[in-house]
Amino acid sequence: MCSIATSTIATQSLIIILMGPPGAGKGTHAGPLSETLGIPHISTGDLFRSHIRRKSPLGIIAHRYISEGKLVPDELTLEMVTERLAEDDCKKGCILDGFPRTVAQAKAFEERLDASKLLVIRFCMDEPTIIQRILGRLACKGCGAPYHSLLNPPLTSGTCDRCKGALYTRDDDTEDLIKKRLEVYRLETQPVIDYYSRKEGLLREISSLGTPEEVFENVLTVALLHNR
Ligand code: AMP
Repeated sequence: MCSIATSTIATQSLIIILMGPPGAGKGTHAGPLSETLGIPHISTGDLFRSHIRRKSPLGIIAHRYISEGKLVPDELTLEMVTERLAEDDCKKGCILDGFPRTVAQAKAFEERLDASKLLVIRFCMDEPTIIQRILGRLACKGCGAPYHSLLNPPLTSGTCDRCKGALYTRDDDTEDLIKKRLEVYRLETQPVIDYYSRKEGLLREISSLGTPEEVFENVLTVALLHNR
């Protein structure tokens, strides 16, 4: 049984959970959505990667799971998310990207939601397109901005347009690990979507096909309608 810290998230804060398979666009749209709504983007994958870079005790354990395409155990994930949500910038809410990924995480998170406004946006995309999109994916080491070698290349190869940081390819973005992560997604995370779909008015589905601008417009419309 998972537990999440005792404090609850402030009443009326807006929590948007972005769900969908790896590569469906959660990270791409979370940044602009965060800027538009003025609430932070919290990516559990980015938090783990930051721990791994710093070689923290959590990072050392998380690396073992991430390098095999597996999920980091719920208890560790929940502790990390709880710490992050306790920071001041989350008072008005946040955009969660990559969390929850198991039903146990979803239930533990819900226990502390209080009367926050919760919205779950699910990005839908077929697997062949996912694999194609992930294989060209790049991210900035400095600011985390996402790029794609073919679909969204930087102005200067290897360099972030925004902060001039170096671009890198994630270690787990290999074809074998993508297939493993998609399998884990079907087994562990699809049930979370089923869980949210049984709660009325919580889940909205958006197709990830289309230009980034078109998809973002749909995401923003859904978020603004929910937050009226
Ligand atoms: P992402 O950047 O969201 O694709 O996450 C990269 C990896 O971090 C995943 O493949 C998992 O190994 C791990 N991870 C991220 N979020 C979670 C989570 N909520 N629960 C367990 N593991 C996670």
